[in-house]
Parts: sequence; C-alpha cells; structure tokens
Amino acid sequence: MPAGVTSDVKTYQIFINGEWVNNKSGKSFPVYDPSTEEVIAQVPDCGPDEVNKAVAAAKAAFENGPWSNSTAQERGRILFRLSEQIRANSAPLAELECRNTGKPIVEAEFDINDTATCFEYYGGLATKVVGYVNPVPDNAMSLSLKEPVGVAGQIIPWNYPLLMAAWKLAPAIAAGCTCVLKPAEQTPLTALEFAKYFADCGLPPGVVNIVTGFGEGCGAPIVQHPDVNKIAFTGSAAVGKIIVKQAADTVKRVTLELGGKSPNIFFADADFEAAIDGALFGVFINQGEVCSAGSRILVEKSIYKSFVEAMMEKAKKIKLGPPLDRETKMGPLVSKEQYDRVSEYLAIGKKEAKLASGGSRPEKIAKGYYVQPTIFYDVDNSARIAREEIFGPVAAVIPFEDEKAALKIANDSPYGLAAAVWTRDIFKALRAVKALRAGVVWVNHMQPTYVEAPWGGYKQSGFGRELGPWGIEEYLETKQVYINLNEQPIGWY
Ligand code: NAP
Ligand code: MG
Repeated sequence: MPAGVTSDVKTYQIFINGEWVNNKSGKSFPVYDPSTEEVIAQVPDCGPDEVNKAVAAAKAAFENGPWSNSTAQERGRILFRLSEQIRANSAPLAELECRNTGKPIVEAEFDINDTATCFEYYGGLATKVVGYVNPVPDNAMSLSLKEPVGVAGQIIPWNYPLLMAAWKLAPAIAAGCTCVLKPAEQTPLTALEFAKYFADCGLPPGVVNIVTGFGEGCGAPIVQHPDVNKIAFTGSAAVGKIIVKQAADTVKRVTLELGGKSPNIFFADADFEAAIDGALFGVFINQGEVCSAGSRILVEKSIYKSFVEAMMEKAKKIKLGPPLDRETKMGPLVSKEQYDRVSEYLAIGKKEAKLASGGSRPEKIAKGYYVQPTIFYDVDNSARIAREEIFGPVAAVIPFEDEKAALKIANDSPYGLAAAVWTRDIFKALRAVKALRAGVVWVNHMQPTYVEAPWGGYKQSGFGRELGPWGIEEYLETKQVYINLNEQPIGWY
C-alpha cells in the first residue's frame, strides 16, 4: 500500500450510461482528507476513452432513449425526487463533503441543504419553460420554441463540490439536456455518491454521466468533443481562458463562472460592529476558498485605524480545528497544492504590505493544510495581493479617501464577480450599486446566495449566468418557427 493509505480507503468506479464501470487503463488517483493528510479514497483516472463512452451514452440518451420523449412534468418529478434523496441522506453527504474539502461541518450542512433546494427549484421550473408568439406581419404565425441544447459538458471546482454539481445538473435536467460531469480531481466523492440515487429517482441511463480525472486528461477531451454541444465551466480564470480556446474548434456554447478579487467597501457611517463581522465573514468563510470572497477590504480613512484593529482582534478568535468539530469555524485548505499556493502569497504579502494578523500556519496544529486567517493592511490596489485571486484566508485592507476614490479602486480590477458596500446612507448605497462593475452587489452584507437570483461575473470573472431562470436559459436553444396561414401560391414567378 502507498504511504498514507489505510485499509478503509474506498475505491470508486465511474458512472456511465447508468452503470458503475472501471476505466480502461485501470489507473486511479488518491483523494485526501486535508485535515489529516490521509488518503480516504481512490478514484479512476479517466481519459479520452471514458470521455468518449460517456459522451456517446449522453448523446444516445438525448436522441433515442426515454429521455428524448420525456415531459417537463416527468423531469420536474425526477428533480424533486433527487432533492428528497439528498435531504434524506444529508448527514452522510455533509460528513463526506466536510472530510474531503476540509470545510467546517456546519458549513457543509448548509451546502447540502442548498444543493437539495437547487434541485427543488429546478424541479418547479421545469414546467415553466415557455415559448413565445412573435408578432410578425403577413398572414402567418411565428413562434419561438425552447428546446434543450443537447449534450452538456460540465466541469467544476473543489470549493463547493456537490453544490457546484447541482448548479449545473439541475437546470440541465430540467431543460431536457444530458450531461457529462467532471468533478474536480480533489473532491469527486459526493458527486459519485449522489449518482447512486439516480436510478431510484427515475433518471434514465445516460442522462447524467460522471467521469473523474484531471483537467488536461479528462476535462479537455470533454471540451473538445464534437458531440458535446455546450460547456458549463466553473473554475479559475486561467483555465477558463484555455476552455474558450479549446471550445472554439467545435463552436460550442460556453458559460464561464470564474474567479474574482471582490471589493468589500466600508463607509464610515456603517454600523461598526456589523461591518467588522461582515468584513471577516466576507473573506474567511469556507477558509476564503470562495469565488466571491471579499478579499479586498476598502475602508474609509476616518475609521481605518480602528477598523483594522477591531478586525485583527476578532480574527484572532476565529476557531481553527478539525472540520468535523461543530465549534470549528475554519478548517484546512483543500490540498497541499492550495496550501503551497496560499503560502506563497503570504510571503508576497509580507513584502508588499503590513501584516495585522495571521501570516502562517497555526502553531498548535501539527497536521493538515491549515492557514491562519491573515489580514494585510496598508495594501496598495496595484499590489499582487490586491490584484490576484489567492483563494485562501487572506484579506487585503485598502484605505480610501472618499466615495469617488472607493468606487474607482473597487472597479480597478480585471475581475468583476461580486462587490459589497456598507453604509446607512441610502443615496450612497444606490450610487455604489450603479457604479460597481460586478455581477453581484450586496448592500450591508456579503455572500448570501440564493437559487432564485442570478449568479455570474462581469469582465474576466466570466460570462453567462447560473441559477434562477437565467440558469436554465443557458441549457436552452431557441427555435424560430414560421407557419404560413396563406393557402395560395406565393405568386412571385
Ligand atoms: P481550476 O483549477 O480552474 O479547475 C476547475 C476545473 O477545471 C477542475 O475540474 C479542473 O480539473 C478542470 N480543468 C483544469 N484544466 C483543464 C483543462 N485544460 N481543460 C478542461 N478542464 C480543466 O479551478 P479550481 O482550483 O478547481 O477552483 C478554484 C477556482 O474556481 C477559483 O478561481 C474560483 O474563483 C473559481 N470558482 C468560481 C465560482 C463562480 O461561481 N464564479 C465558483 C467556485 C469556484 P482538475 O481537477 O484536474 O484541476
Ligand atoms: Mg485544479
């Protein structure tokens, strides 16, 4: 047995055409518990062979199987049943998500609940997809029909594994598409466990296929496959740029949910206690491994000093510990790779700015990829820690003079996923809402996310929107139909 492998390591297969199968090469890779650094599972290392099989199954299910004749009501009921299964199994799913990602169990429970809600939402929405009668002139009727895009390739990250799968699978199923999903290499387990419910919930074989593997070996063949009609990608901006290029040869529809460097703006008139809480929550929730993390904290100069001090005091009390402990507020980062990446930024930050708190791994925890909640202050917006997505518990606090300067700094970023503004002045808040170039703007809060509301970025944070009716639209084609009501010859020739 390789180092770190214990006897209770679970070996997984992949899910293609409603069956659990092995990959052709037989190669697998380890999946870890980042709090113990131990291997907890082995999953197949898939490549083009498995992708071809999965896409063929998805294509066949889309074109010929019972799915091709399924009604919206039937698809809706399947989604409701999937949601019920998730709720019925929420405790083991949350525990597995917690062990595999390192996120605190209480947060994992929220994620699983949100996952179930997402399936419910799209279960309801399945029967609300409607077409349109176009008001054309002439003796004719013109219709716009909504139809499923076809086979969807779905590639997701590791920070909210099952929830990110749900954001993609639920609208695709509601729309009548079929799917090939590749979870992140670090966190494939809950998606695989979820597939065990498919048959009982009435999801026909081939509608959802799950292949595990790495980006280049398994993700790229999905993106390049000529029979995949659409790619839904959530991940880093760097990989998003590769995806767009890879998808060009087959002119695929692509949606990208990428990273961010979101500003969290605090004006002096904001409620001070709420503001401190909001600043910490905005950047440290889920260990800071959040695409919309409020990692640039912009603070008005008149409260700047006391703000940094109060943040520092409160950050010191954040409880790091075993993810399964209900008292834990911050677990380890997801992997050694992420730990090393974040550690590099800690070193960069120490050169670029002043350190208020954190800045290293916690002394008292011997094992696991833990990083202290870290606050840098007096950060210039041109610094690397203010421009580049760190994706860990690292805050860059930036002072500003006035409203105009705050909005200018906030928008001075290649990203535009999210932003938040804290003030009790309604005029100031609404001016900021209008001025901020971001796909999501929160006022006096940061991070609440709802399946009913659109999610997606401006600028290099991507394009397309997930969730709500916007989410299903990305899985629909629009067909224009012209019906001649005139029974006479055209009479042109
Ligand atoms: P990542 O490295 O970009 O990977 C995302 C997914 O793409 C993984 O499944 C990855 O496979 C795959 N991939 C990598 N290279 C590929 C290639 N050449 N072709 C096809 N697929 C490829 O991102 P991550 O580190 O997993 O996740 C963190 C990032 O996700 C952050 O930037 C974060 O902001 C972003 N994110 C955005 C949102 C949003 O809604 N906007 C939500 C969550 C996360 P591997 O498993 O081999 O890496
Ligand atoms: Mg990766």
